Amino acid sequence: MNAAQRRNGTVALLFIDLDHFKRINDTLGHSVGDELLQTVAKRMRLAVRQEDTVARLGGDEFMVIVDRVEQPVSVAELSNRIIARICAPIALAGIEFTVSASVGISLFPDDGLTKDDLIRAADTAMYVAKDDGRNRFAFYTEEMTRKATLYMERDRDLRRGFDMGELVLHYQPQIDMASGAVLGVEALIRWQHPTAGLLGPDAVIPISEKSGLIVPIGEWVLREACAQACAWRRAGLPPLRMAVNVSARQMNPNRLPQFLKTLLDETGLPPERLEIEITESTLQNEDDCLATLLQLKRLGLMVAIDDFGTGYSCMGSLKSLPIDRLKIDRGFIRDIPEDRDSEAITEAIIAMAHRLNRTVIAEGVETLAQQDFLRSRGCREGQGYLYARPMAAAAVAALLAERSCLAPELP
Ligand code: C2E
Ligand code: MG
Ligand code: MG
Repeated sequence: MNAAQRRNGTVALLFIDLDHFKRINDTLGHSVGDELLQTVAKRMRLAVRQEDTVARLGGDEFMVIVDRVEQPVSVAELSNRIIARICAPIALAGIEFTVSASVGISLFPDDGLTKDDLIRAADTAMYVAKDDGRNRFAFYTEEMTRKATLYMERDRDLRRGFDMGELVLHYQPQIDMASGAVLGVEALIRWQHPTAGLLGPDAVIPISEKSGLIVPIGEWVLREACAQACAWRRAGLPPLRMAVNVSARQMNPNRLPQFLKTLLDETGLPPERLEIEITESTLQNEDDCLATLLQLKRLGLMVAIDDFGTGYSCMGSLKSLPIDRLKIDRGFIRDIPEDRDSEAITEAIIAMAHRLNRTVIAEGVETLAQQDFLRSRGCREGQGYLYARPMAAAAVAALLAERSCLAPELP
């Protein structure tokens, strides 16, 4: 750095991390892992110039110091060269496989004046490369620090709010469109923030999914929703289905089923009254998701696919997975009746659900025209502003008491 400063030059730091190295270690063993690291190290040295430095920091982390940088684009090219070399097939222990790498780049003096600042910046950039899909490089930017700081502040505030009991649940009724009876409710999280007012799920879910706080928050939601369902039952209100959204990170076969079993035992809530909503993207996490779903079904819970039709709908998984209900995404309902395609998709989802012996519900029903279309195609249940907005528990009780004469027993 001193030399670069004297000649007004630039030094680049490349922070290189292998993608999914742990998998290789776990599946092929540590001695294959060691050999792989040696091979990768040699390839890196071949990709750089004689005067550049390649080092292993530890584990699967490497660093390259490029001490004469003519222009940032040459560092980008070098990064691509390193990534390409690392990606070439490797034969070890009699099998051929490939490994990729993510590279974060910081520049002296632009991104930091000390060694520690430069390493931290390159590390931050490396995580951005991973987030963007791995097997690529990313330059460090100011913007990244700003985002990281903002994220940390929000995370801290959310932890505080969670500890202080500021999270609350609102409930949106799910309606039998023929009779108007309330068949169930969906629990939706809100944050009663001391200065910002009542915040929606966007202020809670994305941040807590990133930090992992979603697991305790999600368990709180389940506990709170079950307690509420029991309170309504004790108050003599007609039986309701309680639908709760569950994040991908909660679908841990070693944790969620046991948690729910204890919860059901403690509260005495009949398991078929509790419906777990997962999204299609959660299904992508194949193994854990399937293992968890099977256990949930064994407990007698209901499972619905939320926002159906917007993710990577894998029709095959509908055949093999224990799913009870499809929730047609509100994006399709919104454009009925103007948009022919939305109508066609909605109609197809309803028909498919019925043929597969699944129930179906439409979300985001706002107009009578939408309701009529859905009913004419055989969809019986709806959720949306046409019937009710998400509301506090007390308002649901009032609504139910008023309509209780209409509510039939659940099938
Ligand atoms: P979602 O599960 O698809 O929930 C339905 C969303 O649609 C709710 O938004 C609801 O207020 C909104 N909605 C319902 N009917 C209508 C309508 O007629 N028109 C329009 N425009 N919107 C309608 P909300 O409460 O903002 O929730 C957004 C998302 O946040 C939820 O989507 C769900 O994915 C997530 N979420 C909420 N609570 C939780 C939770 O406790 N855990 C997890 N993991 N996610 C949650
Ligand atoms: Mg939902
Ligand atoms: Mg939805």
